Amino acid sequence: MGDDNTKTLCGHVEDELQVKDPAAYIKLIQPAQHYCQGCGRSAVNAENLCKPEKLP
Ligand SMILES: [Zn+2]
Repeated sequence: MGDDNTKTLCGHVEDELQVKDPAAYIKLIQPAQHYCQGCGRSAVNAENLCKPEKLP
């Protein structure tokens, strides 16, 4: 088991943190404007994501 504090964003996406715990995932990627609930990518424009979710 790895240390969550040093785990990379890539590692979290591999474990589907964006699906299991979206709030924790969002904290890691802010100040992104949108993120994808499917694959975890973040982007400025929602149009660039397959399952876009707007960030507050
Ligand atoms: Zn996606």
